[in-house]
Amino acid sequence: MTPIDLSNIPLADNHCHGIFQSQTPGDLITWRRLFTESFDPAMQSTHVATTLFYRRLIREMAAFFECEPTEEAVLSMRKKHDDQLLISKYLRAANIDALFVDKGYPALEMLLSDATVTRLANCRVASMLRVELLMQRLITENTTLSAVVEALRSALNDVRGQGYVALKSIVAYRTGLNIGIWDMDDVEDAFTVARREVQERGSLRLALKPLLDTLLHVTFAEAARQELPVQFHTGYGDTDADMLLANPLYLRAVLERRDYRAMPVVLLHECYPYTQQGAYLATVYENVYLDLSYGIPYLGYHEMLEFTRVALSVAPFSKLLYSSDAVGVPEIHWISALNGRSILGQVLGECVGHGDLSSTGAEEAGVAVLHDNAMRLYRY
Ligand SMILES: [Zn+2]
Repeated sequence: MTPIDLSNIPLADNHCHGIFQSQTPGDLITWRRLFTESFDPAMQSTHVATTLFYRRLIREMAAFFECEPTEEAVLSMRKKHDDQLLISKYLRAANIDALFVDKGYPALEMLLSDATVTRLANCRVASMLRVELLMQRLITENTTLSAVVEALRSALNDVRGQGYVALKSIVAYRTGLNIGIWDMDDVEDAFTVARREVQERGSLRLALKPLLDTLLHVTFAEAARQELPVQFHTGYGDTDADMLLANPLYLRAVLERRDYRAMPVVLLHECYPYTQQGAYLATVYENVYLDLSYGIPYLGYHEMLEFTRVALSVAPFSKLLYSSDAVGVPEIHWISALNGRSILGQVLGECVGHGDLSSTGAEEAGVAVLHDNAMRLYRY
């Protein structure tokens, strides 16, 4: 079947992270570590180099640099480039119109400024606010629960006015997507534990379910009032996340709330491996969108074709959004752009072959998923 050619469509990468100022990875293991979600030493040093993703990356980099397709050759070519030139070459080759960046990770001091990324990549940069970091800061700054709730409401009073186009939650990594309603006694108890952690350590990693769930409900009410999208990490991630509780079906209680229906919900990472469930939610709830991430999770080509087939077969294409989830090095933004375009083009070609779409309809779907849906959803 003939693939649809999407190679000239500029991308709206609806979920990614900042790019490191320093692109010198140091030793080989520091470089390899960028391409696994595992914290285990042998995964980072050895096994990662035998994933299909990693092998494909090395081969694509060799084609890009016109050198031998070996790890040694591509890393030596990489080192010969000035950091900013390297970033510029990759990002311009990716043809990106807009990057939607989660400002909560990695730490901003390590990253290029938005203005620099704009200059190097010739693209726009939109910011997204990670709500758990805001909550943690407010808990360290306030001594009572009611003061934290009030401070959170006021911090989220006008999110677009502060320059953000969306919120992002990593509750799946902390306590799971089964966000509930709690007795105030449980919430107060959790707040006491949180404050003790602040006093002992000077900082807080918020993973107390009654407290986090309660503050998320405050957040959702604000997001709904402002019709502001909220991105949720779902599915595949590092081992902080309990994959069972990262199943998007756990969001049912939130999605069923009529008073939250004005809050668009973006399920990140194609909910992998729960893509069918995520696509189902995007089919039955008008405010649910499914992100198709071609960088992270780090997958072989075949599995990326599969999740793309599932998403397109189940959900309306007006609900699907391209992303890379790239972090730190421009290679991930770039390879995700190459692969995302060609995979989506191949699957849309199959849809034409099977009679699901006309070729005009397939082109319309390609532009929508790669660019237009995100621009409309984030009002950017
Ligand atoms: Zn991310």
